Amino acid sequence: MREERHDIVVVGAGPAGSMTARVAAKRGLDVLLIDRNLEIGVPVKCAEGVSAEIKDIVTLDEKWVCAKPKGAHIYSPDGTKVVMGGENIDVGGYVLERRIFDKFLASEAARAGAQLRIRTEAYDVIKEDGYVKGVYVHGMDGDTRIHAQIVVGADGVESRVGRWAGIDTWLPPSEVTTCAEFLMCGIDVDLEYSEFFVGSQVAPKGYAWVFPKGGDCANVGLGICGDVSGENHRAIDYLNAFVRNKFPAGKVVAEMYGATPLSGPLKESVAGGLILVGDAARQVNPLTGGGIAYAMYAGEIAGDVIAKAVQEKDYSKKRLQEYESRCKDKFGKRLDTGLKTKEFFFGLSDDDLNGLAHSLEHVKIDEITPRALLAELIKKNPKMLFGLAKKLL
Ligand SMILES: Cc1cc2nc3c(=O)[nH]c(=O)nc-3n(C[C@H](O)[C@H](O)[C@H](O)COP(=O)(O)OP(=O)(O)OC[C@H]3O[C@@H](n4cnc5c(N)ncnc54)[C@H](O)[C@@H]3O)c2cc1C
Repeated sequence: MREERHDIVVVGAGPAGSMTARVAAKRGLDVLLIDRNLEIGVPVKCAEGVSAEIKDIVTLDEKWVCAKPKGAHIYSPDGTKVVMGGENIDVGGYVLERRIFDKFLASEAARAGAQLRIRTEAYDVIKEDGYVKGVYVHGMDGDTRIHAQIVVGADGVESRVGRWAGIDTWLPPSEVTTCAEFLMCGIDVDLEYSEFFVGSQVAPKGYAWVFPKGGDCANVGLGICGDVSGENHRAIDYLNAFVRNKFPAGKVVAEMYGATPLSGPLKESVAGGLILVGDAARQVNPLTGGGIAYAMYAGEIAGDVIAKAVQEKDYSKKRLQEYESRCKDKFGKRLDTGLKTKEFFFGLSDDDLNGLAHSLEHVKIDEITPRALLAELIKKNPKMLFGLAKKLL
């Protein structure tokens, strides 16, 4: 077997892996970033929506921004519309073109000095003296043993790197959303608003979305919790029904299936010589399923902590725990609120959801965030949401 050595090997060139590789390479480390796919960013498994905060992480580029909705409409089971934003474009979000965005992030890592290798799949970690010391990969030239001081598992929701290293990453079906999505064209799309639909008929323990992609195209998809998925009740069954009803004449240009973790972050995302980042560490908002921004924040923090650990030649779990505490400071509260809110909302009936939507029918919510929506809901429904509000304090 061939042998290779690097300071760091990053498994997975999604937003989490590319950000980690970029920051670590900028700090002068020898970084290898690998991905099993033939093309970075493909296949896309994402609705591609991000909030305005993406601007704080990366400079926007028209090449990978498809649409700039300035608000969101949320529809309850009886069709009542809740309006968020709409006035100020700066608080609106963006719909990305991830096949370009992910390539851009990986290229930025390469520009910073990281080596990038596609069609290279990790299949195990090297372990010595209780430390992870590298990975085994299948690549275009056969198998290679790649030695590294630190391995970064940025291998997405199906992550195996953590498991190989001995971290419990298993998720029960109740903590995973299964999703189906069509890229549809030839439909009547509101370019100014992203749309969300809730209710047991549309997407039990989940929601459907329509995110404008420009012109007459949109990402139309939905996610349902794994424990309510079953024969004839899979995400694709609900999506087919949704589309038949809402866009009967629309054309499906692409379809995709995927999953998002709903568990909140792993209790342990580091081990000796190992850091898990992004979906691999379950750094996804359990309420919305959104993880792009968290993956990027976590990648920035991971790259910085790794650079310091390599400089100090200390790859211990204790040293790397700085990563966990900084992630917690940066976005832990938001993921925790998302988890508690998701648990509460999953327990509501369609009548409850209608009641909540009616209470916001004439309310203007300026900020387009789950936090702003929740604050309004609690204000208008103090009795019903008392228990949740108490948990969030
Ligand atoms: C249907 C759906 C809709 C979503 N919509 C949104 C949304 O609108 N907004 C949002 O913010 N988030 C959304 N998400 C979540 C978002 O896609 C993820 O949170 C984000 O992609 C996480 O980035 P990541 O880098 O951790 O993982 P990924 O983007 O999944 O990247 C992981 C990479 O690792 C590679 N890999 C895996 N195993 C190996 C291996 N053994 N060897 C080498 N390479 C490997 C994969 O090829 C992949 O490129 C959605 C997810 C789904 C499924």
